[in-house]
Amino acid sequence: MPATTPTTTTRETVIGIWARVWDLAPAAVANQVPGAPQLEALCAHTGSALRLGARALQAKARYRPGDPFPLDAWLAETEQKAAETRGLRATDDRKARAHAAGVVQNRSADALRRVEGFPAWVVEDALERLAERLATAEVEELRLRRRAPRYRRDPALAHSGAVHVAADDTEVAIVAVLSQTAPRWTYSSTPDGRMFTHARHGYSAEGDRSYVDGLSDVVDTVSDVIARHRGGLGGRVYITQRHVECADCELVIAWVGASAGTRRTAVGTCSAVADRLSRPGRVVRR
Ligand SMILES: [Zn+2]
Repeated sequence: MPATTPTTTTRETVIGIWARVWDLAPAAVANQVPGAPQLEALCAHTGSALRLGARALQAKARYRPGDPFPLDAWLAETEQKAAETRGLRATDDRKARAHAAGVVQNRSADALRRVEGFPAWVVEDALERLAERLATAEVEELRLRRRAPRYRRDPALAHSGAVHVAADDTEVAIVAVLSQTAPRWTYSSTPDGRMFTHARHGYSAEGDRSYVDGLSDVVDTVSDVIARHRGGLGGRVYITQRHVECADCELVIAWVGASAGTRRTAVGTCSAVADRLSRPGRVVRR
């Protein structure tokens, strides 16, 4: 096999899958196919595609135990299943991109009029960056891939419980453009770190959420900050031009850009999380 072809499955695995599907002894299957060239081609597929391919043969009653080993037919079915899976993934990619594009289009429409506190050129710059990110972002697990976290080092404030998120005016304006609230920009994180905006306070149902992963340096970094502060539960925050505030304990959990105010910062895990977890029967929903 050429070195450039990635092998995802061993011969033993391939034979084992076939043996399990048909309830045969793996040694008996191996004896049927010594050195068959199709085995190498089958090895290039995932266990999942191989199983689906074998099940497809089974459903079509194209093979019965005792028949000659139908390697060509199995390979054909497996290749078809692998192609179908790739097709599904492409559909998922398109859906994730369409969602992100819809959110940006919707939020950009009246941004120049809606977003206050920024010069018009900064808002225009923000819209340009958003368009560029939409065009270039990769999709990962049904969302645009999150941008690399951006922290600003500040040794003088190392004792503070709040980190500094690096952001220029344009990045801050992006947070304002994407948000559905003002003057404080409300964002929430799911337990697995997906960030969304929403207009209402409290729990927002899936249909009320606008997922914004992969569009903003600040928002994607805040996803990490929330995870640390909330012990992995997700949570809601208010982002402003100066800081990020936890909506539950109302403490500052990050400073934005160069600013560091005098407000109290959170140290350790959110007190609201500790309270809720200590009361049995209470479910933390985000
Ligand atoms: Zn908190």
